[in-house]
Amino acid sequence: MNNNKNDKSALRVNKGVEQPSMVNPSLATGIKNRFKKESLSADQYFNGIRQGDRAVLSRAITLIESTRPEDKQKAGILINKCLPYSGNSFRIGITGVPGVGKSTFIESYGLSLIKQKKKIAVLAIDPSSSRTKGSILGDKTRMEKLSTNSNAFIRPSSSAGTLGGVARNTRESIILCEAAGFDIILIETVGVGQSETAVAQMVDFFLLLMLAGGGDELQGIKRGIMEMADLIVINKADGDNLNKANLAKREYQNALHLFPASESGWYPKVVTASSIEGTGLSEIQNLIDKYLSLTTENNYFDHHRKQQLISIMKETISDALINRFFNSKTIKAKIKDFENKILKGEISPYEAADKLLEMYENNL
Ligand code: GDP
Repeated sequence: MNNNKNDKSALRVNKGVEQPSMVNPSLATGIKNRFKKESLSADQYFNGIRQGDRAVLSRAITLIESTRPEDKQKAGILINKCLPYSGNSFRIGITGVPGVGKSTFIESYGLSLIKQKKKIAVLAIDPSSSRTKGSILGDKTRMEKLSTNSNAFIRPSSSAGTLGGVARNTRESIILCEAAGFDIILIETVGVGQSETAVAQMVDFFLLLMLAGGGDELQGIKRGIMEMADLIVINKADGDNLNKANLAKREYQNALHLFPASESGWYPKVVTASSIEGTGLSEIQNLIDKYLSLTTENNYFDHHRKQQLISIMKETISDALINRFFNSKTIKAKIKDFENKILKGEISPYEAADKLLEMYENNL
């Protein structure tokens, strides 16, 4: 036994043992070469998607996420072809902090929907994968049963790039999934960033998963997100946690009363559930059905979708303008000078911005 003091420190990290690959590497290369993917035409993508081919759908999402100009052009054609076949799904945003039980919930909720003969697509936006390579969503086996079910399609996407870019990719992925015939699209985000607001703007229904007894500081982060929620699900309402969950349900119900009435005419609800035991799922489905019939009757559903289209147009314009501005010859030639002047204190950033914008406009 080594009595070295450091050995007992909780901060000591053992050197990891490298795990052997699950796949024989030479075999993997062989397979890769043999099945080297030939590039598909926009028509081939379209036909595959319409036939519900999940492998083609997955490749099509990779295409729309690509930043290569030739891919972008093909993606544009594909989206236009798919648009007339889109719009028919019910889009649900699901968010919550890591560990709240999102994947467990989506697995059991998704399987219950499949039992009702629905086809489910899950688009998971993973904020960590671009920066750390390790990912919050992808580092464990997630939704094992759902991912092998032929009526489900699961697609994790990294949120590399700008928030606008991620939002656009997700919106286009929704169009592709709808054209492929998926009835319900679940869009999952980790409730720690800004992507929730973007997601709330592209879904029909926003569901927030929470835990009983989360710390005050966590509740602080979630306030803005809470205001967007149509339904709060207190997850892990099982075992010793059941009483706490019921208490939390009442607290959140009271807190929601303080929020202004929503434009949809819907009053956000709070329910308890256990994703592991499957309790609460039928109540959740009931509420979602009620929401759907209320907002169909009062026309909010259509109105909301139309408003979303207008926002898409505006966002697309602002993204394009920013791109054009920074890629214009005039700005490229001048921007460094202005940056240097700002650093030397010779000009304020506001003045610099004004001057650059003026130069851009004069050179259009
Ligand atoms: P995510 O990070 O939000 O996707 O959370 P996961 O679905 O991976 O769940 C995190 C942990 O909580 C896992 O160990 C799950 O088994 C557990 N968990 C998820 N839902 C429940 C639940 O309803 N009850 C209990 N007791 N544990 C749960």
